[in-house]
Amino acid sequence: MKAARLKKKEGLCPFNPGYLKLLLAVQGMSLGKGVAEEVGFTLSTRRGVAGGVDLILPGDLWVNVPVDKTTTEKSPYCLEKKKGGYFLTGYGNEIKVEPVRQPHFYERVTSKGTPFYQIAALHGGSVYISPTNRCQFFDDDLNCRFCDEKKTFYPIAREFISVEEILEIIEVAFNEGVADSVDFNIGYFDTEDRGISFLEPYINAVKRNFDTIVAVDAQPPKSNKWIDKTYAMGVDKLSYHMEIFDMEVFDSLCPGKAKEIGWERYVEALKYAAGVFPSGAVSSNLIIGLEAPASTMEGIDLLTGIGVVPILPIFRPIEGAALEVTLPDMDEMSAILAHLYSSVKASSINMTWSKNISTYMTPLEGRYFSGDDAKLQVVMQNIYKTKIGGKAVRSIAGLRRRLKVKEVEDSFESSGL
Ligand code: SF4
Repeated sequence: MKAARLKKKEGLCPFNPGYLKLLLAVQGMSLGKGVAEEVGFTLSTRRGVAGGVDLILPGDLWVNVPVDKTTTEKSPYCLEKKKGGYFLTGYGNEIKVEPVRQPHFYERVTSKGTPFYQIAALHGGSVYISPTNRCQFFDDDLNCRFCDEKKTFYPIAREFISVEEILEIIEVAFNEGVADSVDFNIGYFDTEDRGISFLEPYINAVKRNFDTIVAVDAQPPKSNKWIDKTYAMGVDKLSYHMEIFDMEVFDSLCPGKAKEIGWERYVEALKYAAGVFPSGAVSSNLIIGLEAPASTMEGIDLLTGIGVVPILPIFRPIEGAALEVTLPDMDEMSAILAHLYSSVKASSINMTWSKNISTYMTPLEGRYFSGDDAKLQVVMQNIYKTKIGGKAVRSIAGLRRRLKVKEVEDSFESSGL
């Protein structure tokens, strides 16, 4: 109802890729006859919290669209195959889109016999890899209440995946041409460094074997020296996800993060990391729907004020995670996204690092809600995406890091760590 009202008010709704991404992420879509088979989408190989089907919308916007019956029951959207390609139909309109086919690498197995899809997932040109099968918060029932361990970390028999297997997966995914960067995702480690030393051999091996960008999603370490070390070991992008700005809601929905790390440590570590990594390379999630819209906007301002890029996933219920949430209406969500764009822009943070993320709304996508077309940022993002542009960015990043590594080595030597 609200969405229909927005469409009428905006007139543009189905043709504004930003609005369309938002609507699809919330409402989902059904799949026309034979489409699931055509795009190679099978439920048995779905990975990650997102699950749904990735679509590329006009404007090169990627969106992960839920296709499960519960979410899509009332959705008017349907993905159909017609003469000339795939079309999204809904609200009496039709728009050409490109479904991202399930990559072939999902069908392969590692040399130790583990199916690739149990270790890695493809999201918007990045291979997301969890070299471990668990987050230690689940051991003590301290997991984030919106998280399902079985969806985030595939339940494989072995606790850790070898470096060799990870390299096999990346090589196949890169050769298939579906990915050009790597994102390591680990849950909570009950150690001083929160797991970054565990990741180091994987990061070193990837950097040695591929000319690529490496991102890490982890928890803030106890001391800032580990943040220096994270940058020195070759990580290009770093995320410590706060998830929620409101401290009370944070304490109740993220009991492990609250008890073992603390809201303040997230802010402190993010601020420090933003001073070490290049502009735009440090980010944090704020999940739309878990707190009041005004609170999310305050969180956006806090993050941009310390040089961090806020990334906004939209809450999506996960089967098995008992949490009832009412999402803000479309007008409120649009206001949050317009605010995201203007807040990041006013802080002069580089918006171009967050490319093609299908599961989140990025600051650059917020431009569709703000009336600012952000031409230069879009041109820069497109340059980064080309092979030559990407190489140039990585060369500059490499030089910047070499200068920093010397400092970090000196400080670790003097501290005896
Ligand atoms: S830190 Fe929270 S969101 Fe991340 S894997 Fe653990 S329980 Fe899930």
